[in-house]
Amino acid sequence: MTEKLIILKTFVEVRWLRKFKTKEAVKKHQEKMIVKQLKYLKKNSPFFKDVDPSMNGFKNLPIMNKQIMMDNFNDLNTVGIDRDEAMEIAINSEKSREFKEKCNGISVGLSSGTSGHRGLFIISDRDRSLWAGAAMAKLLPKKKMFGNKIAFFLRADNNLYETVKSKFMEFEYFDIYEDFKSNMKKLNKYQPTVLIAPPSVLMLIANAIENKTINIDPVKVISVAEVLTEKDEEYFKKVFNKEIIYQVYQCTEGFIGYKCECGTFHINEDVVFIEKEYIDKDRFIPIVTDYIRRTQPIIRYRLNDILVDSNKTCECGLNFMAIEKIEGRTDDMFIFNDKNNNEIAVFPDFISRCIIYVDGIKDYKIVQKQKNQVIIYLDVVTPKIKKDIENEFLRLADKMQFIMPKFEYKKYQVDMTKKLKRVERSFAHEKN
Ligand SMILES: [Zn+2]
Repeated sequence: MTEKLIILKTFVEVRWLRKFKTKEAVKKHQEKMIVKQLKYLKKNSPFFKDVDPSMNGFKNLPIMNKQIMMDNFNDLNTVGIDRDEAMEIAINSEKSREFKEKCNGISVGLSSGTSGHRGLFIISDRDRSLWAGAAMAKLLPKKKMFGNKIAFFLRADNNLYETVKSKFMEFEYFDIYEDFKSNMKKLNKYQPTVLIAPPSVLMLIANAIENKTINIDPVKVISVAEVLTEKDEEYFKKVFNKEIIYQVYQCTEGFIGYKCECGTFHINEDVVFIEKEYIDKDRFIPIVTDYIRRTQPIIRYRLNDILVDSNKTCECGLNFMAIEKIEGRTDDMFIFNDKNNNEIAVFPDFISRCIIYVDGIKDYKIVQKQKNQVIIYLDVVTPKIKKDIENEFLRLADKMQFIMPKFEYKKYQVDMTKKLKRVERSFAHEKN
């Protein structure tokens, strides 16, 4: 099948045909698809040649992570691509910012590594078309299906996205690395009906709308690639004049979830299977299995994200697992000592709460440099703001019994070339 046909077929299937009336039906579909995927991998991936293609066999497979995936890259992939060869293409593409070259007909890219090492990912045209069809089916506005103009802001490090212009829809890609002013000009001229961007970029676009540099009115605003904080979300709702700011949970490892028209965050259980590794009563680390993608198998892959459970049944009728939110990453949990030198790990959400409730702060970033050293970047710093933040921290330290760190304050500056993380730990910790 040609790429266009796969996209269209997937779009129709996902949008109208593939309905799961009960949670039981979702589970059945998942088990069937997992077994089917294992059968395919047994034949085509040397890594999985001895796998027992059943749910039992699946449960006995080891949990994977980026390191294991990179170490076994050549054995894992089903298209016989060599890691070093693909890596060279990916690095050259990134340097030239031309993402045209393929490796044996397969697109290659680097994932933005947050903890130093970067992952290599590969995707076939088939896998990409399936992804595009499903993403469009789920993300295009319910009431406006045709003639959408989609503006997509991304730090591209692959050739996954291309400009599309058809009767059905238009898709314009904006490279974040390019000059922001000219991007704003282009956006204003384009007048998107759907705007997709990371929150740090949405923030700049919102500012441009507020000071009347641009005038756009998209039907749908979708936040991707970075954690959307409640504070930013409220601001975007106000400026874009929307009841819902949509979110997509998409990473190199796949299209994992999205917000539906009711504002509920759903996991795409029609394409991925999620196992939960609980880290407290409500929070869990997702272990993801993608049973659609074939080029580079994602089987029992442990992500670094922290998700919060929800037992909500959504009115949209979708029987997919709901989550309350994506809270941050496990490798950004702050690590402090208590008075007996035991380590206390604190969720990123608790840390940002020490800042967001203080009056007068709009932009911030907080970085833990050492166990006893924290740097706070703020757009405005006054003695009162400092005192308020430290009081919030004192309360948290008291509650969780950790020793207060030393604080240092710096001026907040936007860095468009990096993924924005409002809460970040910059030293490595072996227990991640
Ligand atoms: Zn829903």
